[in-house]
Amino acid sequence: MSNQTAPLSGRKADPEAVIARYEALHNLEKTGREFGITRERVRQIVNRAGISTCRILKPKPEKPERLCKECGVPVNSSHALYCETHRKEKHKRRYRAIKADPEKYAHWRDLLKKYDRRRKERERERRLQEHLTA
Ligand SMILES: [Zn+2]
Repeated sequence: MSNQTAPLSGRKADPEAVIARYEALHNLEKTGREFGITRERVRQIVNRAGISTCRILKPKPEKPERLCKECGVPVNSSHALYCETHRKEKHKRRYRAIKADPEKYAHWRDLLKKYDRRRKERERERRLQEHLTA
């Protein structure tokens, strides 16, 4: 390991000790605090001994990209299950199914009505906003 024997001028922190501590903690800030030196100073000492202070980055668990259930194209919204095209197709299919058997798909009809109402409300609000800011 380090064969550096010359004491660092004006520094009371023993480089060997600093290095050993850094290797245990793997944290410049904490090591520095223990010896009363700056993290930058710790980095210098450790790097001089040929030890990398590059932080080991843990791979962040990235939020998985949402893909269309039908075609696998990335979906722009964080809750949508289908891409724009297939969302519309799905809706069409639903409408057709409801038409064919209104009894069976009454709950779908209610859902679609609810969505429709919400969309209209959103549009109305947007128009109102535009009107106000215009
Ligand atoms: Zn799709």
